[in-house]
Amino acid sequence: MALIVQKYGGTSMGSVERIEHVANKVASFRKQGHQVVVVVSAMSGETDRLLKLAKAIDPKGSQREFDQIAATGEQVTIGLLAIALQKAGVASRSFTGWQVPIRTDGAHMKARIQSIEPEALLAACNAGIVPVVAGFQGITDDGSVSTLGRGGSDTTGVALAAALKADECQIYTDVDGVYTTDPRVEPKARRLDKITFEEMLEMASLGSKVLQIRSVEFAGKYKVPLRVLSTFTDGPGTLITLEDNSMEDPLISGIAFSRDESQITVTGVPDKPGVAAAILGPVGDANVEVDMIVQNIGADGSTDFTFTVSRGDHDKALEIIKRVAGELGAKGVAGATDIVKVSVVGVGMRSHAGIASQMFKALAVAGINIRMISTSEIKISVVIDQDYLELAVRTLHKAFGLEEKK
Ligand code: ADP
Ligand code: ASP
Ligand code: MG
Repeated sequence: MALIVQKYGGTSMGSVERIEHVANKVASFRKQGHQVVVVVSAMSGETDRLLKLAKAIDPKGSQREFDQIAATGEQVTIGLLAIALQKAGVASRSFTGWQVPIRTDGAHMKARIQSIEPEALLAACNAGIVPVVAGFQGITDDGSVSTLGRGGSDTTGVALAAALKADECQIYTDVDGVYTTDPRVEPKARRLDKITFEEMLEMASLGSKVLQIRSVEFAGKYKVPLRVLSTFTDGPGTLITLEDNSMEDPLISGIAFSRDESQITVTGVPDKPGVAAAILGPVGDANVEVDMIVQNIGADGSTDFTFTVSRGDHDKALEIIKRVAGELGAKGVAGATDIVKVSVVGVGMRSHAGIASQMFKALAVAGINIRMISTSEIKISVVIDQDYLELAVRTLHKAFGLEEKK
C-alpha cells in the first residue's frame, strides 16, 4: 500500500461536476488500497477574482489582508471535495493550512514553507480518513494566514509529500503531462515521458507554469518523486527525475516562454566604475527583481544600459530609474512592456556546441529580431517583441526537432 499525495488544480476543481469527478478518482485509488492525501487549488479564476476585489479598494493595500482574502478560494474547494468524497462513500476531512499546520515565513503573497507538522494528517490517514488540504496557504508565526505565490498549491503538494514521506506526489491538471512547450501555443508539442529536475526547474523559472518553480525546487531538494498527470484522461503523465546517465539526453527538451517581461533602458550614461551598481542598487532596494542585463559602450564612450523586470514591477522600476538617471547625468530613459522572453532548455546542451547559433539562425530566417540574449549551462533565452511570441515558439520547436513523432 502506497501513500500518495495528489494535487488537483483550478480547472480540475472548476465546477461541482468536476469536483465530483475528482472525488470518484480519489475513491478508486482508495479502493486499490492506497492511502491518499489530497491537496486542492481554488476553482479556476477564483483567486484572480478575489485579488481583483481587494485591488479595487486599494491596489497597494495590506498584503496581509490580500492573503486573508485570496486564501478563501481554497477553503471553499476543500469543503466541497470533502463533501463529495463522503457522498462517494470515502471518509474525508478538510484541513486549511493552519489546521495542518503548514508554517511559513511572514513574506505575504510569496511566503515560503518553513515546516509542516504531519501528525494530524497521519492520524487521519491511519483512521482511514482522506485528508483534503487547502493548497497555496499557510500560517505565519504571528498567526496570520499567508499564501505561497501564484500557482502555490503545487508547492503545498510537494511539501506535504516530503513531510509525509509519501511514495509519490501526483500533480493532476488539465494537460496530461509536461510537454516540449505549452500545447496551447504549439499544438504539435509532444508529451515527455521524463524530464530531469534541473530541466523542469529551468522550464518553470523561464515561464512554463505547469509547475510552480518552488514545487520543483522542493521536490529536487527532498527527492520527492513527482509526476504530472491529467485529471480528465488516463495515462502515464510525465515523471520528473534525477539526471539519469543511462538516458540518452536529447539536445533540447523544451521551449519555455514568459509574457511577464518588461524592459528599461538608460542611454548615454557616463562610462565609469560604479554605474551598474548606481542603477541597479536602488532597484534591488525596492525589492524589484532584475532578470537580464545588457550594457554596451557607444562610439562616444558613454554607456547604454538595459535590463528586464516583470511587468508588474515596470512602473515602479521606471520611476526609480528616472530619478537615478538624473543623478548620473544620463541622456535618456525608456521603458517597454511589449516584450516577451523565449528560451530553449536542455541538459544535452552542455556537451554540444552550436545550439545558440542554430537558435539565432532559425529566428533570423523567421524574421524575428532579438533584443537581448542570456545563456546558462542548460538554457538560452532571448527577448523579442511580444507580437512574435507564437511564431518564435513554433519556429524553435520545429528547428530543434521537437514535433510529434509521426
Ligand atoms: P492548474 O490549475 O492545474 O495548476 P495551470 O494552469 O497552473 O494548471 O498549469 C497547466 C497549464 O500549463 C496547461 O494548461 C498549459 O497551458 C500550461 N503549460 C505551459 N507550459 C507547459 C508545458 N511545457 N507542458 C504542459 N503544460 C504547459
Ligand atoms: N489558487 C492559487 C492560484 O490561482 C494557487 C494555485 O492554483 O496553485 O494561484
Ligand atoms: Mg498551476
